[in-house]
Amino acid sequence: MRRGRRSGLYSVIAVHSTARGPSLGGCRMWGYEDSRAAVRDALRLSRAMTSKSAVAGLPLGGGKGVIMLPAGAPAPGPALRRDALLDFGASVDQLGGRYVTAEDVGTSAADMTVIAEQTEHVAGLGHERGGSGDPSSWTALGVEIAIRVTCERIWGTADLTDRSVAVIGLGNVGGALARELAAGGASLVLADLAPGKRALAGELGATWAEPGAALRADVDLVAPCALGGLLDHTSVPLLCCRAIAGAANNQLASDAIAAELHARGILWTPDFVANAGGIINIAVELEPEGYSAERARARVVAIGTTIGTVLDMAASTGTTPLAAAQELARQRLEESLFGGEGAPEPQH
Ligand code: NAD
Repeated sequence: MRRGRRSGLYSVIAVHSTARGPSLGGCRMWGYEDSRAAVRDALRLSRAMTSKSAVAGLPLGGGKGVIMLPAGAPAPGPALRRDALLDFGASVDQLGGRYVTAEDVGTSAADMTVIAEQTEHVAGLGHERGGSGDPSSWTALGVEIAIRVTCERIWGTADLTDRSVAVIGLGNVGGALARELAAGGASLVLADLAPGKRALAGELGATWAEPGAALRADVDLVAPCALGGLLDHTSVPLLCCRAIAGAANNQLASDAIAAELHARGILWTPDFVANAGGIINIAVELEPEGYSAERARARVVAIGTTIGTVLDMAASTGTTPLAAAQELARQRLEESLFGGEGAPEPQH
C-alpha cells in the first residue's frame, strides 16, 4: 500500500499467488470509506483472480490493484486522474513483474496507456499499442456461454428462445450480454442504478425494473453484472429464479451462501468461472506468438467445457458448484507447485 507522491491518493496492490505465473488482475479505481475497506477489497479480489486463472488453466497467478478514492467524492479531474495512474504504474513497476495490471471497474484501456508510461507490466492496452483492447466483449461472450451451459443442465437445451433472464447492471459487460441474449431469443428484464440505461430496455423490447426487483423477478435465470455481494442471507430467500450466472465478481456475500442456494434448488454457476473471458483474452497477449483474436475466441468458448467439468464434479460428489470450482482451482495450483499434467511452463 502506497500514498502516491504525485496524487496524494492511496493505492493497494495485492499479490495473492504467483504459483502458476505472474499475478494478473485489473486496477479498480473506486471510492472507499477507509483504507481498510480498500485493502479488504484488493485481497478478496486477488484471491478470486488466483482461482479464476487456475480454473481456466491459465499460466497466471492472482493479483489485484486498487486506487482508492475518498467515498462520495466527485470523480477525479483529468490531471489528478493522470497523476493517480502514474503513481499506480510506478508501484506496479516496483514489483518487477510479479504483478501485471489491466483495466477493471473505474479504469479503461486509455488509462492503461498512462500506466504504461511507468511500467511494462501492463496488459489490455489498445489495439494500436499491440494489445487486445477492452476485454468486456470477451467477458460478455464467456458469460453468455455460461448461461447457455447452465440452462442446458436444467432444461436440457442451450437454446434461449423459451428462457427469461434478468440482467442486473448494464455496463460494458451487462450491456453487451443483454444484446446477445436478446439476439438469442431470450425475454429480458433489465436493471441498472443509472436511469439512462433504460433506453437499452426500450431498444431490446425488455422489461425495465429496479435492481432489487430484478433480483427477485420471476425469471428462469438472473445474470448479476454490476458489483459483488448481492447474494446474501436476506436476498437468497426472496429469489424466484432457477439459476444464476453472471459477470459480477464476488456475487456471494460469503462462501456459506453457496450452500443456501443449493438447498433452495438454485443452480449458481461460480462467478470466477463464468466471467473469465476477459482474463482468458488478456492471457493470449502474453503467449509467445502474441495476440490473436481467433485464438482468444477459441479459449473463451472453452469456458463452456470448464463449467461442464465443474457442474459434473459438483453433481458426482454432492457438493455445491462453488466447492467443486474451488477444488478444481486447488488441484490446478497443486499441479503447478508439484508438477503433473496441466502444469504451466515455468516462468523466466
Ligand atoms: P461497468 O462499470 O461498465 O458497469 C457496471 C454497471 O452496473 C453500470 O452501468 C452501473 O451503473 C451498474 N450498477 C452499479 N451498481 C449497481 C447496482 N447496485 N444495481 C444495478 N446496477 C448497478 O462494469 P463492467 O465492466 O460491465 O463489469 C461489471 C461486473 O463484471 C463487475 O463486477 C466487474 O468486476 C465484473 N467483471 C468485468 C469484467 C470485464 O471484462 N469488464 C471481467 C470480469 C468481471
